[in-house]
Amino acid sequence: MNICFWGVRGSIGTALKNSEVELKIEEALRLGVKAGLREDSQVSAFMQELPWYVRQTAGGDTACVEITAGDERLIMDAGSGIRPLGLKLIQDSGGNPIKVAILLSHTHWDHICGIPFFVPGFNPRNTITVYGAHSNLEERLRDQQDSRFFPVPLPSTFKVVQLSGNDHFTVGDVEIETIPLKHPGDSFGYRLTHNGKTVVYATDSEYKDLSTEALKPFVDFFQSADLVIYDAQYTMVENVEKENWGHSNMFTGIDMAIEAGVKRMVFTHHDPVCDDKRLGDFFQKAEEYLRMYAPSGGPLIYLAYEGLGFTL
Ligand SMILES: [Zn+2]
Ligand SMILES: [Zn+2]
Repeated sequence: MNICFWGVRGSIGTALKNSEVELKIEEALRLGVKAGLREDSQVSAFMQELPWYVRQTAGGDTACVEITAGDERLIMDAGSGIRPLGLKLIQDSGGNPIKVAILLSHTHWDHICGIPFFVPGFNPRNTITVYGAHSNLEERLRDQQDSRFFPVPLPSTFKVVQLSGNDHFTVGDVEIETIPLKHPGDSFGYRLTHNGKTVVYATDSEYKDLSTEALKPFVDFFQSADLVIYDAQYTMVENVEKENWGHSNMFTGIDMAIEAGVKRMVFTHHDPVCDDKRLGDFFQKAEEYLRMYAPSGGPLIYLAYEGLGFTL
């Protein structure tokens, strides 16, 4: 399976501000002076050594992850990240029909706002199947493109498959299970298995009760996964302050990953107020926490950014 992140922001799309770009340039120049840069030829190597928050950005598009498994292409959530993904699919298709399955965690805006801008959806030769467990799913998607909110209605290319929330089904030879998560208005996690490899997509979930008993269904769902994509919008403290907002944090994710024997965990659904430096600081603390609680192993952990990819 190949996994690629196209949107990693939660709540609302968050463009990089001019002031943030300036800070990155300033920091890079400062570090360049410190490193004694003199020649053009030194620049590329120096760039690679810059801290990631200076050199790059996590990105501003909302929830969207592409999973390719054999002949199947699955798209986890349709936040604004699905817009550039759609353009790439068209480019890669060489004019042939495109077939994708979109698996929705829920219908909050940050997870469906890209659908009106998913260009392959406007070509009737393409097959776009949308799966989701919320009641009246098709109506919700149509409403988003009601003429009061968007000039073009939802094209008939989008075929909706209504799930129940505790499903076990297949898309091609990809086996898929779902689980209800803890989120206002509900959210659902997906566990995808293909050729003996498993990816779990579990975003928008708040684990308030951290007892073994309460976490058991989720730990079971994550069990021995090769990769878990996990909502870590908040810090541990914010999680307490923002009780019932429906999100989790990196430390709770690490605890669950250790318990479930997860191999890799990616933290995503970044808070719009978090700039790259702050995200980097949170992630560093998560790495320290992991070293403390699993000194001789534990999962590999990653901070999601646009373009992050895995091959399992
Ligand atoms: Zn969300
Ligand atoms: Zn939500």
